[in-house]
Amino acid sequence: MSATKLEELVREIIKCNKCRLAKTRLRTVPGEGSENAEILFVGEAPGRNEDLAGKPFVGSAGKFLTELINLLALERKDVYITNVVKCRPPKNRKPTEEEIKTCLSYLKRQIAIIKPRIIVLLGNVAIQTLLDKNLISTKAHGTVHKKEGIIYFLTFHPAAALYMQKLKKVMIGDFKKLTGLL
Ligand code: URA
Repeated sequence: MSATKLEELVREIIKCNKCRLAKTRLRTVPGEGSENAEILFVGEAPGRNEDLAGKPFVGSAGKFLTELINLLALERKDVYITNVVKCRPPKNRKPTEEEIKTCLSYLKRQIAIIKPRIIVLLGNVAIQTLLDKNLISTKAHGTVHKKEGIIYFLTFHPAAALYMQKLKKVMIGDFKKLTGLL
């Protein structure tokens, strides 16, 4: 069987050398899940565990994200999970504007292929890259924005809930709202 469009794109991302993160990464982390997903989750950039595994959200933040996805009565294989930037920034620093700009065409192509009905933006990097530089998760979490026929749902980055325990409940509340959109 020939490769699907998404598989071809994943292969292209794996070989990417467009920015300096290619020099320090162990593996690219293109994303994983269903090509027919109705929901796409977008994080910031891979961390250490993801860099080792080549898969998104496999560390402790990923464990919490999996629990949140299960709250929607879905499993990881039912959705698609990716990041704005596909390679780990050294020492888990924030990706730079330049790195985001260079990598963004991959995310846009993933969106064009998967055609999700809902995109869940996990934290400020995803929110500000795909929606609006002036939105911040502390104020805009739990809200819905429509753009180009896609429903964007805003919430915190799951790692934030690990640093600040009270955010766990807030994120669970956000995902209950998200259930109402399914
Ligand atoms: N944080 C992210 O933003 N993405 C991952 O894949 C893991 C941690």
